[in-house]
Amino acid sequence: MKRLLIVSNRLPVSVERRKGEIHFKGSVGGVATGLGSYHETHESLWIGWADVTSGRLDATEREQIRTALRDEHSCVPVFLTADDVRGFYHGFSNKTLWPLFHQFTQYAEFDSATWTAYERANRKFCDAVLEVARPGDTIWVQDYQLMLLPAMLREKLPDASIGFFLHIPFPVFEIFRMLPWRTEIVEGLLGADLVGFHTYDYARYFLGAARRLTGTDDHYGRITVDGRLVLVDAFPMGIDFPRYAEGAREKAALREAEQVRKRTLDRKVILSVDRLDYSKGIPDRLRAFAAFLERYPEWRHNVSLVAVAVPSRERVERYRELKREVDELVGSINGEYSTIDWTPVSYLYRSLPFPTLMGLYAAADVALVTPLRDGMNLIAKEYVAAHEGREGVLVLSEMAGAARELGEAVQVNPFDLDSMVEAIHTALTMPAAEQLERNAAMNRRLSRYTVQRWAEDFLGKLEEVKGAQTEHSATRLDDRAQARLVEEFAAADRRLLALDYDGTLMPADTRPADSPPDPRLLEVLARLGEDERTEVVVLSGRDREAIERSLGGLPVDLVAEHGVWIRGRRGDWVTIEPMGAEWKERVRPVLEIFADRTPGALIEEKDYSLVWHFRKVHPRLAETRVAELKEALVSVVADNGLAVLDGHHVLEVKVSGVNKARASHRWLCRDDETSFTLVAGDDSTDEDTFETSPEGVWTVKVGAGPTHAAWSVRSPAELLDILGVLADTLEGHAGAP
Ligand code: UDP
Repeated sequence: MKRLLIVSNRLPVSVERRKGEIHFKGSVGGVATGLGSYHETHESLWIGWADVTSGRLDATEREQIRTALRDEHSCVPVFLTADDVRGFYHGFSNKTLWPLFHQFTQYAEFDSATWTAYERANRKFCDAVLEVARPGDTIWVQDYQLMLLPAMLREKLPDASIGFFLHIPFPVFEIFRMLPWRTEIVEGLLGADLVGFHTYDYARYFLGAARRLTGTDDHYGRITVDGRLVLVDAFPMGIDFPRYAEGAREKAALREAEQVRKRTLDRKVILSVDRLDYSKGIPDRLRAFAAFLERYPEWRHNVSLVAVAVPSRERVERYRELKREVDELVGSINGEYSTIDWTPVSYLYRSLPFPTLMGLYAAADVALVTPLRDGMNLIAKEYVAAHEGREGVLVLSEMAGAARELGEAVQVNPFDLDSMVEAIHTALTMPAAEQLERNAAMNRRLSRYTVQRWAEDFLGKLEEVKGAQTEHSATRLDDRAQARLVEEFAAADRRLLALDYDGTLMPADTRPADSPPDPRLLEVLARLGEDERTEVVVLSGRDREAIERSLGGLPVDLVAEHGVWIRGRRGDWVTIEPMGAEWKERVRPVLEIFADRTPGALIEEKDYSLVWHFRKVHPRLAETRVAELKEALVSVVADNGLAVLDGHHVLEVKVSGVNKARASHRWLCRDDETSFTLVAGDDSTDEDTFETSPEGVWTVKVGAGPTHAAWSVRSPAELLDILGVLADTLEGHAGAP
């Protein structure tokens, strides 16, 4: 059976030490419930911080906790020091990431000491996972406290199935770029195979950040990282629907609801429930309620706001300030509007037991859920579920992730006081039939995409990604296959290595022609090329000058411009088939128009082709422009015997019939004694060569994705290592100098 390892900052079980004794208490958070059904049918382990509330633990106590958590709760504790907790949790997680990701840039602190603690703590989580992980496990990392963990795990477990889900928003790039450690965070997340967000917007913002910071472009949310396919997608987290729909009908909840109505003297009740957090917009909501009483005085005496604020992060100064602000606002509204028999705002600063919360949901005519920014917001969903088949109006902020799914709620911009006032009025005066209709529509969705479905959906998708990583791709050139390859190479009398340049020998670069090759690459190619019985040909799309600058000094054959030019190791450049260049005058103006209106695009001119580069263009825009450009080129291309070639971030127009496959056949299909041939390439321009290579040729694709090659390696660095080993065997034979 497949095993699931869930990793989150906190465990679903809290550990307490009272009077020297250890106690455990289970919690029913959203994620714990969501994964509950998975837990029952699968073997699973939950790894998280054992936040032991009082005192330090000695080694015996730790062992006692570890054993009890494992045996009774399938949990594995991570022990953090007081320093870790201060820097990693209260510091970087809650004073840097939380405010920044919720767009409260003014509250975000950038402190390298807390960043170091964040890295250190993520490393401790990594060690805890590695201690229990087995081959075949699925690892699911949760939330913003552990964003470095996926890459840390990937490094140690290259083939593991790793998922990551972010429960808070991901910000737009203009905000995210402020983070001094933005690249590390993006790279940390890209260690996962599947990165999930609550909404499509957050997923797009993340993809944008990844593109800008690491140059990884996406195609419908799919990106390739070190040759590995990574999927980025939206999975809006749901709730345990029956728990809230049925919970609101249970006796205890009904009794509570009755009490609330009695105490509010059957006035209309507006409810708000949040953790006391600045992202929740509590002061703005209170001000909107006061403005409502001002604009609609007929509602004074007739409506009460019950505001529940659950204490949160009281150790962070910003939260203490917020508490003071809310206390004062409630005091001033009640001071201004209260009468002997009516208090406009009932304020509860505490956490409520489940039946009380359900009673409040059930009693409330209106739920006012108006965060300034919220990843999802479950309160909104729970309130709607508690009103299944009943009246009740949800007023919901557009800024909550839940707004995407709850289109029938009365939606407001929480920064617009006027619209808030009107939304409260609309909600209080909405006809009963309309309330029922809206709730029915929302509940149909909530009852389908529950938190259990969310978890299954995510894990199912993760499995799909893992499948796609291997399905259409070549077999990995693993240690065993490499050993065979080296053996065949060493045993052959004559060998040929036909190697593509960019993306195969050289890591893909942002600019077309200005990156010098790694000295190690030059050294390895030189050693191979110097051997009498080994012939090396490097096939490139670059122009003659560029490839000559990079590799001209080596004893290897060169092919430039996808096969237009050939240079033997000791000869001059010759062209295979001389061609005119008049066609360029017709094509260039078309490319120029498109480059002018596309920021980031540039044109490169080669002897026998014109290239439109779009690596630096926004991918959505690039997609549109490439399609338009192809359309615009159709007639010119047909009239002049040209071909349009789709490359990696480039569109190349060239004389048709010239391609790398044709050029490579000069070497591959020679009738000679060659008994070992290796062909390596990375993109579509190499696929023809793979496809038409004679049998027995080692075809190697660099990177992931569908291919005609039989074998694959992850990166140019991995290919270089293999070439290095081949070169070493030569020295072995010849007796190294
Ligand atoms: N909640 C609770 N006790 C309370 C009030 C709320 O357990 O006294 C729960 C509520 O049922 C909901 C969660 O806290 O499931 C709040 O989740 P939400 O996504 O709305 O906000 P978050 O606190 O995660 O930012």
